[in-house]
Amino acid sequence: MSAQRAFNGVKGMNDLLPADAGLWQALERHVAGWLDNYGYRPMRTPVLEATGLFRRGIGEVTDIVEKEMFSFTDRLNGDELTLRPEFTAGIVRASVEHSLLYDGPKRVFSIGPVFRHERPQRGRYRQFHQIDVEALGYPGPDVDAELILMGRRLWRDLGLADVRLEINTLGESAERLAHRAALIEYFERHADSLDEDARRRLHSNPLRILDTKNPAMRALVEDAPRLADHLGPASRAHFDGLCGMLDDAGVAYRVNPRMVRGLDYYNLTVFEWITDSLGSQGTICGGGRYDGLIELFGGKPAPAIGFAIGIERLIELARAAGKLEAANGCDVYVVHAGAAASRCALRVAEALRECGLEVVQDCVSTSFKAQMKRADASGAELAVILGDDEVATASATLKPLRRDAPQERLPQDQLPARVIALLTGDKVTVADESN
Ligand code: ATP
Ligand code: MG
Repeated sequence: MSAQRAFNGVKGMNDLLPADAGLWQALERHVAGWLDNYGYRPMRTPVLEATGLFRRGIGEVTDIVEKEMFSFTDRLNGDELTLRPEFTAGIVRASVEHSLLYDGPKRVFSIGPVFRHERPQRGRYRQFHQIDVEALGYPGPDVDAELILMGRRLWRDLGLADVRLEINTLGESAERLAHRAALIEYFERHADSLDEDARRRLHSNPLRILDTKNPAMRALVEDAPRLADHLGPASRAHFDGLCGMLDDAGVAYRVNPRMVRGLDYYNLTVFEWITDSLGSQGTICGGGRYDGLIELFGGKPAPAIGFAIGIERLIELARAAGKLEAANGCDVYVVHAGAAASRCALRVAEALRECGLEVVQDCVSTSFKAQMKRADASGAELAVILGDDEVATASATLKPLRRDAPQERLPQDQLPARVIALLTGDKVTVADESN
């Protein structure tokens, strides 16, 4: 009888087992190259920050701050702490704290876990992962366009066909206030046609009335004042500049005047990359400009813009597209029989690794047949076999596992060179075939 399981993982927080982690690793490798191509540099901040940082930075009246943060009091010193629900606030805090922008703007990125107390479902977890990209100190709109082009390139690289772009401008806060006043005035004039929800939101959050699901209010909402009509010339020029650059680059987009994004700190450009192939959690990337945040955190005023990609959603799409491949098996699997051979195997395996080869040694040590089975399952190209005979003559048997070729016996000190010749020979053959 087996013992009862003592613990389970925390709800909404997934284990990533080796079968899936390989694909994640392949994605992360690709993403590292992609970020390099655009000159973005890595930056890492703690998973825990002061709760006040997020309340202030994200905004009190947001889904995240109102109901999604994992917050707690440190019982050892009374500090109020929160597991980061997103990266931007921490990155901006760190760049102010360390005067990162003292010698000019910076392009940075972070990749890692973020935490939100949401109802777990497909594409929505309590611990999930983001690729977060921030351009700190750049006024745009050229950098806004660059960030969007980065997205397009990544979807293309990964073979994601069905991802579309929506953009909008939120203007500046004075313009949003003027729009808000106009909305209230408009809806008050049509108070008779408002449903109960809308009446409740009229004075607290009139913008929310715009995304009503009530068909009876659709016409009313369609004719409501638009933020676009309250934009000043600078905001207008920023948005037109961005649209012009996207047109030049042949990026298809839709202007969605209803897109407001969840966070308080955004201004001017906001954008989302959306797909229909993920069910209802279709946003894989969201971003926007936050020109006031650095100053809000006590830094010298500087504009900034960034975006975050949800890795779980991206992986699901990339897996379906089938272009991303997890790394294959190792190069060599070392099989050995007997105590002397086992010591010899350690030495032989190290000599192969010394030459840069990926080597797995059998450390279960059962029958020769069982070891060969594991060698085959490992995905290795070659098996190195060491028995009493081989030990006695300082030799090794080399057995190709993936194709019909004879095994060969050779001196141990010639093994690395022979393995490399066989493996690179493989690559040449593959290249020739594709011609
Ligand atoms: P949503 O509208 O889906 O709640 P959001 O606006 O809250 O998204 P952002 O804060 O913009 O999301 O986060 C950026 C990206 O992180 C999203 O586009 C999405 O891909 C991913 N994401 C957000 N919340 C979750 C979650 N709970 N689980 C998995 N991925 C998530
Ligand atoms: Mg959300």
